[in-house]
Amino acid sequence: MSVNLLNFDKQQLTEYFESIGEKPFRAKQLMRWMHQFGVLDFEQMTDIAKPLREKLARETSITPPTVQIEQISNDGTRKWLIDTGAGNGVETVFIPEDARGTLCISSQVGCALECTFCSTGRQGFNRNLNVSEIIGQLWLANQSLRQDADYGLLAKDDRIISNVVMMGMGEPLANYRNVVTALHIMLDDAAYGLSRRRVTLSTSGLVPAMDKLREDCPVALAVSLHAPNDKLRDEIVPINKNYPIAELMAACQRYLEKAPRDFVTFEYVMLDGVNDTQAHAKQLLEIVKDVPCKFNLIPFNPFPDSGYDTSTPDNIRRFRDILMQAGYVVTTRKTRGEDIDAACGQLAGKVQDKTKRTEQRILRKIHLESAA
Ligand code: SAH
Ligand code: SF4
Repeated sequence: MSVNLLNFDKQQLTEYFESIGEKPFRAKQLMRWMHQFGVLDFEQMTDIAKPLREKLARETSITPPTVQIEQISNDGTRKWLIDTGAGNGVETVFIPEDARGTLCISSQVGCALECTFCSTGRQGFNRNLNVSEIIGQLWLANQSLRQDADYGLLAKDDRIISNVVMMGMGEPLANYRNVVTALHIMLDDAAYGLSRRRVTLSTSGLVPAMDKLREDCPVALAVSLHAPNDKLRDEIVPINKNYPIAELMAACQRYLEKAPRDFVTFEYVMLDGVNDTQAHAKQLLEIVKDVPCKFNLIPFNPFPDSGYDTSTPDNIRRFRDILMQAGYVVTTRKTRGEDIDAACGQLAGKVQDKTKRTEQRILRKIHLESAA
């Protein structure tokens, strides 16, 4: 099988060219053709000599993932369902706002971490995405948006996608190597040239990988906290049993020593009657007191059989006010793209119909029970 060049960051492409006796600067040329100009056909790469173009065409390919469905919400949010084979898919979401356009990227097919309120977690884990599938989401969204009439008047190098958040399906730090390579491509001036401050990785708190990311590729960090004490967090974010809150807070402090922003964003899903009381808010202030941070309250987005309800607007407001009165910046996430199931935690890669998923869930449960 030929090598897919979308799997490589600049360093890996440089090594590839060196291995076939070519000059290292070819890597930069190729990155620009692939990522900036969206060119897949080697024939069009006019500053590369013909014999090399022919060799690349013989031995390699530039193969982005395929889109199965593109949906556009009434509010302008767009969602692409990316085919990952075997009847599975992952989702990518573009959220346009006045001054910026944010792309939310998936990192795994499903997720093994089983947070109880998350539809991706309910699906279970299928597999890690490879680099071409991760960076391919940015590639595809960029190409698709550029072809759109709404953006037809843009200059060639104006950015439609100004921010990337690794907040789609999957736990990015559980697919560490591929995610970091994809981050390198996002940040590379020969590719997407995004600043570290405009790329945010969200994690449920894999402490050792947070420490590694701080050294390898520090980008802005969001942490899915969701509970103000270990007892509750053990229950709704089970990875907390491995990395409890005190360890997570210490990791956040260490991360900030190298981070491009001087705060961590704590995400907190608002679950009615579960984690949304005023007492919870006060406890939350206690546990974060040594970590410079902002809060992002996410009203729970329901999905079938979730067993949870969204906190009432009044409870969300009261919770927010307690944090704000303590001097914190708090945003309450607006739900976007609800009509196309593109809101947080609703991404489920619906290639399969729901009955099939339910069947799978039951089978998985039986499997787990029989293994126990
Ligand atoms: N695995 C990573 C990133 C993906 S999830 C993480 O957990 O951080 C992005 C955010 O959406 C996380 O904060 C996640 O907890 C939250 N989320 C998951 N399910 C949700 C739901 N049903 N409603 C609202 N937010 C949800
Ligand atoms: Fe995985 Fe994040 Fe969902 Fe938890 S919230 S199951 S870590 S995708």
